[in-house]
Amino acid sequence: MYRSHNCGELRLTDTNKEVTLAGWVQKSRDKGFMIWVDLRDRYGITQLIFDEARTHETIMQQAKSLGREFVIQIKGSVIERESKNANIPTGEIEVLVNELTILNEAQLPPFTIEDETDGGEDLRMKYRYLDIRRNPVKNSLLFRHKVTQEVRNYLSNMDFCEVETPYLIKSTPEGARDFVVPSRMNPGQFYALPQSPQTFKQLLMVGGLDKYFQIVKCFRDEDLRADRQPEFTQIDCEMSFIEQEDILNVFEGLTRHLLKKIHDIDIAQFPRMTYDEAMRKYGNDKPDIRFGMVFGELNAVTQHKDFAVFNNAELVVGIAVPDAASYTRKQIDALIDWVKRPQVGALGMVYCKCELDGTFKSSVDKFYDQTDLAQWADATGAKAGDLIFVLSGPAYKTRTQLSALRMELANRLGLRKPDEFAPLWVMDFPLLEWDEETGRYHAMHHPFTSPKKEDMHLLDTDPGKVRANAYDLVLNGNEIGGGSIRIHDKETQSLMFKHLGFTPEQAQEQFGFLLNAFQYGAPPHGGLAFGLDRLTAILGGQETIRDFIAFPKNNAGRDVMIDAPAAIDNAQLDELNLALNIKG
Ligand code: ASP
Repeated sequence: MYRSHNCGELRLTDTNKEVTLAGWVQKSRDKGFMIWVDLRDRYGITQLIFDEARTHETIMQQAKSLGREFVIQIKGSVIERESKNANIPTGEIEVLVNELTILNEAQLPPFTIEDETDGGEDLRMKYRYLDIRRNPVKNSLLFRHKVTQEVRNYLSNMDFCEVETPYLIKSTPEGARDFVVPSRMNPGQFYALPQSPQTFKQLLMVGGLDKYFQIVKCFRDEDLRADRQPEFTQIDCEMSFIEQEDILNVFEGLTRHLLKKIHDIDIAQFPRMTYDEAMRKYGNDKPDIRFGMVFGELNAVTQHKDFAVFNNAELVVGIAVPDAASYTRKQIDALIDWVKRPQVGALGMVYCKCELDGTFKSSVDKFYDQTDLAQWADATGAKAGDLIFVLSGPAYKTRTQLSALRMELANRLGLRKPDEFAPLWVMDFPLLEWDEETGRYHAMHHPFTSPKKEDMHLLDTDPGKVRANAYDLVLNGNEIGGGSIRIHDKETQSLMFKHLGFTPEQAQEQFGFLLNAFQYGAPPHGGLAFGLDRLTAILGGQETIRDFIAFPKNNAGRDVMIDAPAAIDNAQLDELNLALNIKG
């Protein structure tokens, strides 16, 4: 038996017990006649004591040789500590050691294994296994386990069946690039790693499984933005014989279950907002509704004067920044520069201070009088003491820019409180999205999403106006889940492919299996997928998903610990029939 107890469980009530413990040496303090060692494992830290007066000399000698992160096993008796440590659960006791075995020595770790470490990000990634020994990382992994366990509990209790779908598949277009795997046995042919199990879960519905879920890795070869991982995990779900309302209820229930189990928070009915409303009020299809600064449209109250910038704009829109009327010229200029950065792309920004005495002072006083500015305040909900920022230009672009500013200000003003949770559904997304680059429509969600029946007639005349039976679950300004009611008949699916620019032959070649399946009695079905990494991070009160992944990739998509991706040797390339395709 390696251990009778773990390092986190001994208490005063265990005094006089003979115990065996195993773990890592967190640190040791050598006072010559007395040595204390903090022994650490996943469960906590227990103080060991070696005392010249009570410990055999050879063991004293051994104890003196212990270095940080040595793996040891000890036997000893639990005694009450003289100076107690109220900060740790085992702080009232220590173990007087009478037997010590060094199980493994350790080199000096490249950074300190403490809650606050001196190791930089890169170093910690390279030695991730050491980083995992630190409480913050270890706790994040334990937290993730708790979230997945609660997900499994909730869904299993509702009769969802967990099914594994294959990783070596054929490419499914979901808007990103596929990772591909060459097939040795089929020269010149490739598998694709799934961007999601979308078509498979639909086929499980055709197979009559009724309720499916899977906690599953998905792969997308996207240019990496901060906090995106090329492989990530989804809680993927699908249900048959349901309407949109049923899905919203089940997964609102799941989210509520998680908030209750993890934070003991009760949240009533989640608000619902159409995509159009989200864009109009927040300039964003994943609005953070924990704070205000709701958009106020100002066309009606700005376009009656001689200010050409506003008069020529499709949209004039503003937000009221709470209690910011006291900002200095310098602070305001800095924010104007911020929106003019290429990442945001505004050409300029107008402001209006709502002074505490009820007057207004704007950067366009030449054009607008106090009555005009009072109307701006009305439209943006500004009160005395607030500062109104106004952007103008093409509607979509301007909304996006103002949204970026809104989020930036909220971050700076500390309005995005990590322990506050504000979920909502965003619904009625457009079915199609115009892609400037390719000059054609793309499915906004994916090609299997059903159009709203009442909008079907617009498919030929005004495709951009067709709304989809698609919904996203948004939490604190992040999309944590999204899904749709699916098309389940061959005709509509073929029509959809046609609108996405597929010839019937191309559709058949790529998706024949699905179109065929729809001919054998496909039930009405729909579903959604949650992003587990992000969901966990947000529930954990953080926004970096990397902290909740055991072995994440860095911003360049590399695993710096195992050094992947890496070249493979010629023999391997040969075997995969790739050798000739590689230049140089
Ligand atoms: N497969 C979709 C996605 O990955 C989710 C869904 O429609 O269920 O976003």
